[in-house]
Amino acid sequence: MNSTVICIVCPVSCPCEVEWTKEGGVTKVENNQCKLAFEYVEGELFDPRRMLTTSVPVDGGNWPLVSVKSHVPIPKDQMLNAMKAIGDLRAKAPIKVGDVIMPDFIGSGADLVATRNVAVA
Ligand code: SF4
Repeated sequence: MNSTVICIVCPVSCPCEVEWTKEGGVTKVENNQCKLAFEYVEGELFDPRRMLTTSVPVDGGNWPLVSVKSHVPIPKDQMLNAMKAIGDLRAKAPIKVGDVIMPDFIGSGADLVATRNVAVA
């Protein structure tokens, strides 16, 4: 098969022309400016993942919400399940950047971590 995949590893955003098969994987990548495209294209075709970023309500904090993210990219097709899994989640102040708000939140080994500090109100 032939596909065009935009590499988003850096802002250049190369429009990679890709030859691939389900059985044999990626056999050719063209129109890329560097070799980082190969790993990105392979992941995008066979195991697309994204960082999940959202916010969670905070009890007793000087901010009502804390921004959070998955500490590693999670499977793209798990995004909806991931948002359901944290739908009723609440965090408790104080919170520091990097604190694990919910460990292994979709059973894939990814933790939900805070990306800002929230002090006690
Ligand atoms: S192929 Fe290289 S230069 Fe092009 S977008 Fe990807 S990382 Fe950037």
